[in-house]
Amino acid sequence: MENRMEVSNVSKRFYTDEGELLVLNRLNLELKKGEILGILGPSGSGKSTILNILAHILEPTSGEVTINGQIGYMFQRDHLLEWRTIMDNVLIGLEIQKKLTDEAKERVEELLKTYGLWDFRTRYPNELSGGMRQRAALIRTLATSPDILLLDEPFSALDYQTRLMVSDDIYQIIKKENKEAVLVTHDIAEAISMCDRICVLTSRPATIKSTYAIELSVTREKTPLISRKSPEFSHYFDVLWKELEHNE
Ligand code: ADP
Ligand code: MG
Repeated sequence: MENRMEVSNVSKRFYTDEGELLVLNRLNLELKKGEILGILGPSGSGKSTILNILAHILEPTSGEVTINGQIGYMFQRDHLLEWRTIMDNVLIGLEIQKKLTDEAKERVEELLKTYGLWDFRTRYPNELSGGMRQRAALIRTLATSPDILLLDEPFSALDYQTRLMVSDDIYQIIKKENKEAVLVTHDIAEAISMCDRICVLTSRPATIKSTYAIELSVTREKTPLISRKSPEFSHYFDVLWKELEHNE
């Protein structure tokens, strides 16, 4: 398989006390090698459900999911354990998977050094800023060496300034570590600045309404902050804004 991931005709129905709820309706998408794929949709449209299906946390009601590689999942909240130090937090995935070798530990130490958390390794999560916590959560996700990252609105708990900085950090980490990622968000500007392609969801039951390849002309090496200043940015923003508006 050329692609990292293929989702074909996936539907998901929840059964609740109030009855049935069809959340995903014959969804099709693929994650290509080397790309960050954005999934853009309003709140409640089924974005987290899609990631939970990709991570095998939920079974689709029908349809097929093929995944070529190991998955790392970064949830909307950072889920750092307050009673563990940063080092013990980032090692937890390796511990659970019984992969805590000297080599893996060295890799994590390298990641902490590269991404500015080494001096904080013996601190506790509540001693860190929101942005640093988010970076720690990403390093914990990267520690088990996944091929594909699933990111569920990873910046939504951060204030605007921090969000810009952390999305720049995280973008560069993903590209430098040569990972693919699926980024779920309801933030249009975030999607354009981070993603190589963006799929827009319809309102519930969600299916893919349209897909855009994001091609921005930038003069320096591309980062989300630089992308936001490219001449095409506002064009994409307008198009995607209209596309989402029609969902309401
Ligand atoms: P999003 O992440 O886009 O905000 P979700 O995927 O979390 O949306 O949820 C989509 C819809 O499915 C919502 O209406 C939500 O209430 C419903 N839903 C999600 N998980 C469950 C579940 N386990 N049981 C019943 N309904 C659910
Ligand atoms: Mg969600």
